[in-house]
Amino acid sequence: MGIKRWMRKIFRRGEIDCPQVRGMSSDFLEDDLRPSSRTMINAHLRICPSCAAFIKSLASTITLLGRLPKSKPPPTLKRTIRDLIENRK
Ligand SMILES: [Zn+2]
Repeated sequence: MGIKRWMRKIFRRGEIDCPQVRGMSSDFLEDDLRPSSRTMINAHLRICPSCAAFIKSLASTITLLGRLPKSKPPPTLKRTIRDLIENRK
């Protein structure tokens, strides 16, 4: 839903800020973003150590969950990530 408006807002600014990076972090790690969005996030991570650390801790959580004998992430993954995001505020 509102994702297209959100994307337009991002592209108009030509850059994304920390809340946007964190909001898209699960999609970023699940490789569920457009290449252009990935590029912007990667660019942000290079200049923002706090988001880089955030993504890194999220990635290790997902790696941990990836060891489960399921090919798809469990339905609780998104909630786990959301909890992580909330706790880092
Ligand atoms: Zn940031």
